[in-house]
Amino acid sequence: MRILNIIDQQYSWRDSLADRSTTDYIILHHAAVSAASPQDIHRMHLNNGWTGIGYHFYVAKDGTVYRGRPLNSAGAQCQGYNDRSIGICAEGNYQYEIMPEAQKVAIAELLRYVTGLYPQAQVVGHRDLNATACPGTNYPFDEIVTLAREGEGAEMVRYQKLSDIPNDYGFREVIETLMNAKIINGDGSDQAGNDDVIDLSHDQVRTLVFLYRGGAFDRKLIKEGIQPAVKD
Ligand SMILES: [Zn+2]
Repeated sequence: MRILNIIDQQYSWRDSLADRSTTDYIILHHAAVSAASPQDIHRMHLNNGWTGIGYHFYVAKDGTVYRGRPLNSAGAQCQGYNDRSIGICAEGNYQYEIMPEAQKVAIAELLRYVTGLYPQAQVVGHRDLNATACPGTNYPFDEIVTLAREGEGAEMVRYQKLSDIPNDYGFREVIETLMNAKIINGDGSDQAGNDDVIDLSHDQVRTLVFLYRGGAFDRKLIKEGIQPAVKD
């Protein structure tokens, strides 16, 4: 099985991040600079007065995929749409440059995963919604969308932290409940909340949710003073 490796980053946010209300669009961007790390983008966006990096994912030219904002947060990447879209940004300036093959493939694999999470969402370029050249004349939009659509099998993703888990089917809430009940234990790196490293695959998350909803953890939940999943 192919694993889509998404690298977590530590960002220090200016303020707390708000959750998004819905996901109607997946918006593709370029960084408009030839070389920049996700931390460079984070600093630039802080300098804009924003909470921090505005994209949810950042794909480097070598095909490395980084997380930006937590998946469930509102972004700062497309005026008027931040509360209902996911932003994916490519390193580079595709107004002038030609995208390397590794980056193209990585964006397509990431897009395949994200469209799987939000099948109702429309994939667009930033310029389709705002007055901007982004993601640039040379951005291979059609090729990436086609590659993403024609890819084989589901993308296998691992979630390092609770905040990485999508909540559109209530997945994150269930995992949070299981962490509170100590059915899932993190590595203890976050004393204050549930920001421990848990490292669960998407399939493991799906299985845990399925078991939880079937009442498999109810005895333990009741023992911890937490409401069971199945009520009689
Ligand atoms: Zn853009």
